[in-house]
Amino acid sequence: MELNTRAVHVANEPLPTGSRPLSVPLVLSSAFAFDSADELADAMAGPDGAYVYGRRGNPTVRALEQTLAELEQGAGAIAFASGMGAISGVLLALLRPGDRVVAQRCLYGGTHAVLGDLAGRYGIEVVRISGDDPAELEAAAVHPATRLLILETIANPTGQVPDLPGLLAAARTLGVTSVVDNSLASPVLCRPLEHGADIVVHSTTKYLSGHSDILGGAAVFADDALRRRVWPRTVELGACADPFAAWLTLRGIPTLPLRMREHCANATVLAERLTAHPAVTAVHHPLLPGHPSYAVAREVLAGGGGLLSFEPAGGREAGRAFVERVRLARLALSLGGVETLVTHPASTSHRELDGAALAAAGIAPGLVRMSVGIEHVEDLWADIEQALG
Ligand code: PLP
Repeated sequence: MELNTRAVHVANEPLPTGSRPLSVPLVLSSAFAFDSADELADAMAGPDGAYVYGRRGNPTVRALEQTLAELEQGAGAIAFASGMGAISGVLLALLRPGDRVVAQRCLYGGTHAVLGDLAGRYGIEVVRISGDDPAELEAAAVHPATRLLILETIANPTGQVPDLPGLLAAARTLGVTSVVDNSLASPVLCRPLEHGADIVVHSTTKYLSGHSDILGGAAVFADDALRRRVWPRTVELGACADPFAAWLTLRGIPTLPLRMREHCANATVLAERLTAHPAVTAVHHPLLPGHPSYAVAREVLAGGGGLLSFEPAGGREAGRAFVERVRLARLALSLGGVETLVTHPASTSHRELDGAALAAAGIAPGLVRMSVGIEHVEDLWADIEQALG
């Protein structure tokens, strides 16, 4: 079945009476009682048995995990308390001191931070690559302890789309486990497991839940044995998904394809108009023909996504001024919700990067990031025009 259909018919177990509720039940119990000690002991053996304790599994959370695995075409999933919970959980579960990680240079700031921390405190080496050429991975992987490749489908905030088919095929040949953060594309625009990724991670805080009302994350695995290997470590880490956040995410998923369509359509119109605006010096959106990732974006994405960034003429001060002048769009740090948000990355999400690191990540000092919502595009354009002065 098509993804739109699968998104509506989310996982749903029958009740003991036999009928199925149309909405997945929200189960808040933190622990589950048993009649026999042996049954309780058996239930503790793995991730898929009877529910025991909330950190090890919960019916609402499991329904979300099954739904995400279904949408990403994976063998199974683990839901987390946040996107960073998912990223940290996967890295901590799979890495050992002395390992080498190959990371795309333009990654979410939090991912950069956790990789830096692992490098400084646990002797893990992080090699950065542009993500545009599989030969960079092949060169980095001459080190025998090269364990992980980490990429983002659409990088934040430059809109870079790495060469997923080339890099994921090379990772597979080299025996390097590949992790792709698919938060900005969502499974509607790209399913990295279909291109050969081993693990997809999500901040479900973003498009998947879609309404700026929860924090959540997930890891979806191509191979169930890998999910079973990672699961015990995530139980220890304790960054488990909250059942109510899981329920709200399940509530958002049926409309994900419709929302993505509007996000993509609005962002494309705004990107094109900004390109022609005299007070704008550069616009970054993967489906603008001049974008460096245009060709690969056309190949791997079913739409350009809802994120765009641009540089107002006047550098850092102009960028800061723009985010304070918008009236309909809000100045707020997240993305992927139904409402349009703007930020100035150089002073917020990427403030820990110095000038050289910002330049290396492709972030101009005046860059404005816009998470384009599903409002009417003419209202958004009127707001942008007045804010540009
Ligand atoms: N990955 C990407 C691409 C993000 O943009 C973010 C947050 O903005 C995260 C991961 C972290 O997600 P969370 O805030 O849910 O921990």
